[in-house]
Amino acid sequence: MTEETLFSKIIDKTLPSDMVYQDDLVTAFRDINPAAPTHILIVPNRVIPTVDDIEDSDELAMGRMLRVARDLARQENIAEDGYRLIINCRDHGRQEVPHLHMHLVGGKDLGFMLRRES
Ligand code: AMP
Repeated sequence: MTEETLFSKIIDKTLPSDMVYQDDLVTAFRDINPAAPTHILIVPNRVIPTVDDIEDSDELAMGRMLRVARDLARQENIAEDGYRLIINCRDHGRQEVPHLHMHLVGGKDLGFMLRRES
């Protein structure tokens, strides 16, 4: 049996969320602690802990995540101004929830992505 995660409970609706999209491969819901006017998490329905755990057979779901990000950005009216897609991986990436997820963040100027080392 696949291990349950916080996000798999949202996917199967045993945990409430502000869900904005769901299909056979992916689910999208609003981040509970938004960092910008639009902050949506797009997750594969299958529990994939991190980017490092993606299997070749997940390729369709990974592509679907990007396609859904494009569509949701248009729905949220942030596509024209632009937005950021973020996937954190493990400790150095500061991944908090061990269920692969892509942040769709926008609705304001997000500044530079990372502080340069020099
Ligand atoms: P990360 O640091 O990339 O693992 O991001 C985890 C994200 O999940 C954070 O932005 C949290 O605010 C968000 N989060 C945690 N619990 C929930 C929840 N129950 N519903 C929606 N978003 C959540």
